[in-house]
Amino acid sequence: MTIVEARKPDPKKFIKGATGDWEVVIGMEVHAQVTSEAKLFSGASTEFGKDPNANVSFVDAAMPGMLPVINEECVRQAIRTGLGLKARINLKSVFDRKNYFYPDLPQGYQISQFKQPIVGEGTIVLDMPDERVEIGVERLHLEQDAGKSLHDQHPTMSFVDLNRSGVALMEIVSKPDLRSSDEAKAYLTKLRTILRYLGTCDGNMDQGSMRADVNVSVRRPGEPFGTRCEIKNVNSIRFVGQAIEYEARRQIGILEDGGTIDQETRLFDAVKGETRSMRSKEEAHDYRYFPDPDLLPLEFTQAYVDDLAAHLPELPDDKKGRFVADYGLTAYDADVLVAEKVSADFFEQVAQGRDAKVAANWVINELFGRLNKEGLDVSTSPVSAAQLGAIIDLIRAGTISGKIAKDLFEIVWSEGGDPAAIVEARGMKQVTDLGAIEKVVDEIIAANPDKVAQAKEKPTLLGWFVGQVMKASQGKANPQAVNDLLKAKIGIE
Ligand code: ADP
Ligand code: MG
Repeated sequence: MTIVEARKPDPKKFIKGATGDWEVVIGMEVHAQVTSEAKLFSGASTEFGKDPNANVSFVDAAMPGMLPVINEECVRQAIRTGLGLKARINLKSVFDRKNYFYPDLPQGYQISQFKQPIVGEGTIVLDMPDERVEIGVERLHLEQDAGKSLHDQHPTMSFVDLNRSGVALMEIVSKPDLRSSDEAKAYLTKLRTILRYLGTCDGNMDQGSMRADVNVSVRRPGEPFGTRCEIKNVNSIRFVGQAIEYEARRQIGILEDGGTIDQETRLFDAVKGETRSMRSKEEAHDYRYFPDPDLLPLEFTQAYVDDLAAHLPELPDDKKGRFVADYGLTAYDADVLVAEKVSADFFEQVAQGRDAKVAANWVINELFGRLNKEGLDVSTSPVSAAQLGAIIDLIRAGTISGKIAKDLFEIVWSEGGDPAAIVEARGMKQVTDLGAIEKVVDEIIAANPDKVAQAKEKPTLLGWFVGQVMKASQGKANPQAVNDLLKAKIGIE
């Protein structure tokens, strides 16, 4: 098989070894739990955090004579995901049995899709700091999750929890198109964003709703692909980055010492920051795949797919494009805002009828900064979009200065309330009464004759005077009026 590579070697991404440059090649297999009430082939609930074996039907426990019945909602979600990945949707796909023995797999096989998956080739676009790259998606198929063995409940026995048994997963397989740990992290982040926009997977890696198998190989730039190792079940984006860095270095070390890489499955130890061998290719399973005789091929019409396509929500790439084109935001700000749909929605509410760049600035710098500090997210923000909008309106109307607005933001953050009413009640209004400002300006000029003389020579010293007046007025003087008055009185053009 000849592989035509979409990407050219990029020296900026090379890893320096003792004997020269190396290029890392990465492909990912992501398991994403389908958002659905019920499991893939049974009516049992998928709710997270229930007591062990609370969500188990006879089908999930593989009782004799039980037959799987496909859950249409899972099929719908898989198609919608495929459409979100701009992928080919296969109107006919087949469920296969993947046979292996394990205590948490009561059927003795997993129902998966092997030769004919529901979704074919697609693309994920990554906006890296200095380039835009397209990563190929090889396929997306539907399969069942397994149960879970519990080894820490009893001194001499292991228990099995089948709550996850039969839950629908989408396995999304990338092409080996990724060339750095940063790209791999960006790929996972982007994929998760797309899944969350679509509402097809909640993307919660800490609850196991999304996990990644990371395939890593290294080669001399321009050479054919090297032998890969697969790091199984990495459950955080940060760990994916660490695992790749470690694994690439490990492989380079072996090759530079004249060794060869054995194709094997490895595990990432997050405590040590290392990968270690789990099983070699020789120990790999022979799954004896064959079409599941209990299930007909899965078929649907193009009209069904078209209808789902017509009702997809706006996806992050489109939203970003719109934010740049319609609101005049920078690509960077647009990226930050579209990363989560709730953030983008919040911004759009604030921007409604206001200067969008000012709105973006407040949302990103003040609000997100504050939320991050407190470990909160937008969906639980103490300051609502309406409140933030009202603060911006007060600045725009000249009622408060930008500086006072930050104090006001703090008050609304901790106490809530209507921003305009707070300004009124606490006397936070900006002083635009020229007489009052003039009085303060005169006092400061009178108290600092030497500085006045210096400022005549060096007009940048005006800033010091502005600062003094603002301080004396507790930030309430209108900065423009202060500036104008000072210039006139000191005699600066
Ligand atoms: P398998 O079916 O044995 O798991 P696949 O060909 O489906 O193998 O590939 C699985 C994953 O490994 C894919 O994400 C693919 O992009 C990636 N991959 C394949 N070859 C390499 C390689 N040489 N280096 C890194 N990743 C690779
Ligand atoms: Mg694999």
